[in-house]
Amino acid sequence: MPVFKADVMVLGAGIVGVSAALHLQAKGRDVAIVDRLGLAAGETSFGNTGIVQAEAVFPYAFPRSPREIALAALNRDPRAQIRHGALPAIAPWLWRYFQASAPGPRLASAAALRPLVARSVAEHEAFATAAGAGALLRKGGWIKAFRSERGRQKALADLEEVKPYGIAAEMLDGAQLAALEPHLTNVVAGGVHFTAPSTTPDPGALVKSYADLFIARGGRLLAGDARSLEASGAGWAVSSGEGRLEAREAVIALGPWSSDVFGALGYRLPLGVKRGYHMHYGAAGNAMLNRPVLDLEFGYVLTPMARGIRLTTGAEFARRDDPPSSAHLDRLEPLARQFFPLAERRDAQPWLGRRPCLPDMLPVIGAAPRHNGLWFDFGHHHLGLTLGPVSGRLLAQLMTGEAPFTDPKPYRAERFG
Ligand SMILES: Cc1cc2nc3c(=O)[nH]c(=O)nc-3n(C[C@H](O)[C@H](O)[C@H](O)COP(=O)(O)OP(=O)(O)OC[C@H]3O[C@@H](n4cnc5c(N)ncnc54)[C@H](O)[C@@H]3O)c2cc1C
Repeated sequence: MPVFKADVMVLGAGIVGVSAALHLQAKGRDVAIVDRLGLAAGETSFGNTGIVQAEAVFPYAFPRSPREIALAALNRDPRAQIRHGALPAIAPWLWRYFQASAPGPRLASAAALRPLVARSVAEHEAFATAAGAGALLRKGGWIKAFRSERGRQKALADLEEVKPYGIAAEMLDGAQLAALEPHLTNVVAGGVHFTAPSTTPDPGALVKSYADLFIARGGRLLAGDARSLEASGAGWAVSSGEGRLEAREAVIALGPWSSDVFGALGYRLPLGVKRGYHMHYGAAGNAMLNRPVLDLEFGYVLTPMARGIRLTTGAEFARRDDPPSSAHLDRLEPLARQFFPLAERRDAQPWLGRRPCLPDMLPVIGAAPRHNGLWFDFGHHHLGLTLGPVSGRLLAQLMTGEAPFTDPKPYRAERFG
């Protein structure tokens, strides 16, 4: 079997792995990415909503009020869907998520997220420009739209909470919203326009363009199973379809599958998943959308994508490997049809993705505590597209002994004991 050598192997070719590889390469490392699909963005990074969420401050929290919890538990709140058969398996993780969503820990997570999120658009712009993929990053932000006075009050309260963080946003009444998005129906009463975020009409193509840049700069992307990772000499080895790859250092960037590899090495980190679906639709008549619009009351987003209008769902709580279900999408589609004149479905099946989530909604970025030359970069939850490039920068700084641009302590694996 041929043996390939590299300085660093990055396991996983989603936005997180590709971004880490690009930053390490820029620091002079010879890097090889290994993905079981042998291509970039074949999983979660393919099918998301495509927003680089520069406005994100507070992580999505587990509901705190007994009424909200009861509604969610009974699947009466369309913003989330619970697979009841999975509850015994996922309850310990949900309990940790509930605890991490208390006001104090939630504020701490927000403070830790901010330095990463604040650089997210600039990091994407730098990659996209170098990759010649500027057309895959759009300006124009996104809109959180509401239907009712209650929704308006909630949007206002959310806005007040993020004001101290300097978030650029404009409150829109019905007429102002109609000027920006004339084809939303009259169930929509107004919205909040976040102007700073970038969005992409094709998240998969965006990440692929970054991977192409990595390859054009001399990087390798190999097909292989990261579960074959083993210590080898002074470093690490993995079997790829093309031979055995050996490298001094390895980065686990396998998103929701990271536990398959860190678990086998004895780490017990509470990585869970919040699953989510998408479906594409045509638009009736001449209807069009100019930017992503969230239906605040029901928690799904409609985004104009290359393939059509993409409806993305909120969280489905299930085991990572449970079979897909169309239940959540089927609940949301009629609500979306009230909101915007959607036409035919364009995909044979809903696409299923898995947001890799730690209970405190912060990623793990940094050295593996008990193995030399092993590094972690996973758990980017609802914000993996946003945070992939900036996480890669931080990781590369830590791996090359440079001063990190922000204190890396909140992202250490050791926070889980
Ligand atoms: C419905 C939905 C909407 C979302 N919207 C947004 C959004 O608007 N903005 C945002 O910032 N984020 C969004 N996210 C979150 C974002 O998509 C994820 O956080 C991000 O894609 C995770 O990237 P990743 O690289 O960690 O994982 P992935 O993209 O899943 O990559 C992991 C890679 O590991 C590979 N792999 C797995 N097992 C193995 C193995 N054994 N050997 C080798 N390779 C393996 C897979 O093939 C895959 O390529 C959304 C997610 C969902 C589900």
